[in-house]
Amino acid sequence: MSEKYTGLKRIWAIHRKQYEDFREEYNRKRVRCPKCGELGNYNVIIVKSSFNPDKQDEYMDKDKCTCLKCGDTHIFHYRISEYK
Ligand SMILES: [Zn+2]
Repeated sequence: MSEKYTGLKRIWAIHRKQYEDFREEYNRKRVRCPKCGELGNYNVIIVKSSFNPDKQDEYMDKDKCTCLKCGDTHIFHYRISEYK
């Protein structure tokens, strides 16, 4: 029993590391409001989303963001890295 538990714990630890690395990059690409380009400065309502290490491309953070500058509401996934 303890052997199995240890194995599972190891997998969780690996997944968490994968998630943290992935999330760092993911966040870096989504620092601005997609409408006005405001950097940061938004309210957020957390919406639970699941992460599958084998399907990272399909990951979508559905947190609801409201830009404090222009009032736009969007989900976190659609925020942008640079305003053009
Ligand atoms: Zn905005």
